[in-house]
Amino acid sequence: MTEDAVIGSLPALEMRGITKRYPGVVANDHIDLDVRRGEIHALLGENGAGKTTLMNVLYGLARPDEGTILLDGQEIRIAGPSDAIARGISMVHQHFMVVPVLSVAENVILGAETMSGPVFVDRRKAAARVVALAQRFGFDLDPEARVGSLSVGQQQRVEILKALYRDARILVLDEPTAVLTPQETGEIFTLLRRLAADGRSIVFISHKLYEVLEVADRITVIRRGRVIGERRPGETTEEELAELMVGRAVELTADRGVSRVGETVLRVEGLRVADDRRHEVVPGADLEIKAGEILGIAGVAGNGQDELVQALIGLRRSLGGKVTLAGRDVTGFSPRRMNEAGVGYVPGDRHKFGLILSFPVYDNLILTSYYRPPFARGPLRNDAAILESAATQIERFDIRTPSAQVTTSTLSGGNQQKVVVAREFDRELKLLVLDQPTRGLDVGSIEFIHRQIIAKRDAGTAVLLVSAELDEVLEMSDRIAVMYRGRIVAQLDGRTADKAEVGLLMATGGRDTATITATPAATIEETRA
Ligand code: ATP
Repeated sequence: MTEDAVIGSLPALEMRGITKRYPGVVANDHIDLDVRRGEIHALLGENGAGKTTLMNVLYGLARPDEGTILLDGQEIRIAGPSDAIARGISMVHQHFMVVPVLSVAENVILGAETMSGPVFVDRRKAAARVVALAQRFGFDLDPEARVGSLSVGQQQRVEILKALYRDARILVLDEPTAVLTPQETGEIFTLLRRLAADGRSIVFISHKLYEVLEVADRITVIRRGRVIGERRPGETTEEELAELMVGRAVELTADRGVSRVGETVLRVEGLRVADDRRHEVVPGADLEIKAGEILGIAGVAGNGQDELVQALIGLRRSLGGKVTLAGRDVTGFSPRRMNEAGVGYVPGDRHKFGLILSFPVYDNLILTSYYRPPFARGPLRNDAAILESAATQIERFDIRTPSAQVTTSTLSGGNQQKVVVAREFDRELKLLVLDQPTRGLDVGSIEFIHRQIIAKRDAGTAVLLVSAELDEVLEMSDRIAVMYRGRIVAQLDGRTADKAEVGLLMATGGRDTATITATPAATIEETRA
């Protein structure tokens, strides 16, 4: 065996018997994980299984109660993130840590400056290194570009470049594809394979089983803090992985059944909306949703979907147009008035609009109803009713938390999302507006939430579903509206729509419809040229 082959077969990283306890939960229960050189190792597990905790232990953000970490066979103690980085361990976060006003190269260098004297940074040398690294790994990035002007996928590459600049040999990516388009996902996978071929090790956390099967060399599944199994992609299936994760068989595709459509509930006419920079990103949207119908909006992120939804719900002022709810003009209503008018809302950014993380779980469950009976008795809070309702929702929506009293920030990402969903779904609604309702959720929770959405529809609620997951839009929607550059460019029947066709409409806005051959022209109703 060559020296390289020997090193290749040795684990670059070993985590042995890692145990981490928090009040009321064992987040990691004697976890063993080994990652080889040049390997893409996927970490799978349901929401709250302990994946992030294990990676926080590796990155020095959480101190384990038991267990050891070995790097290239040597036992190490990681004092904190800077110590981890110094040892070649880097983390690419979901919420990027980039400075929008700085250039790509400046962002990469920031915090790891090359010193050419006691105080001066040799920027030229550093920038040249950034360019060389970007070229070597085929990053499609202009080092001079301002990071704020880059797409989400490009900003993520800046984060990866930052890690490489710091000589990361072990890279942890926590749900890197949750915010990416399918094309960007493909690009990031190509990049990860190049990094692995260069001898680096990658730990990849994802809830998307088909992605894990596509990109990983090995998969470790954890459930409730314990390692449940290890598989290679060739010897397993999505179904088996789902069952390992959740502990029961999971339906991976939703059965939307037949919708019984009633009267028009939501009518949007000529709605014009600007973004934070006052650019009119929605120059006039027209939509209609009937009772008992799910309208899905398909579109590449950043095509005005967020602004449209925020204007609809009263979180953003519209520049013009009209919104009617069950015949009543609700244009310009505040979020609270919309809520009282019978509108439920699951926001895309749960931290900004959905939750107050420093509040206990029970308070977040009544965030939009605390001032109403039974939760308020005159000016007083009815704590007994609040806690009783919280206990029911935690049970019904399977929110994994030691109790309703814990601070919401301590819940895993997926369980925070379930808190928002429980609050918004658990009452009678005329309209339910869902923005990325299953982002970050495990397959079991997605199955559950999809069933809840269908049940709401069947109870006569009109549902607006915005999702970056094209498969979700295709599976769930009775009708699909494709949004491109702020306009609804096409509306299709959800049952007959073809994935390639919708993808093409999303990417081109329909300018290229001549190449769409799969569907008869009659099913594409062009609402705007
Ligand atoms: P998800 O897929 O939802 O992100 P996860 O597998 O990453 O889930 P973790 O975030 O590791 O899950 O959470 C594991 C458990 O540890 C959860 O029960 C969570 O509530 C608990 N936990 C994590 N961090 C803390 C903390 N700082 N304080 C208290 N409990 C915590």
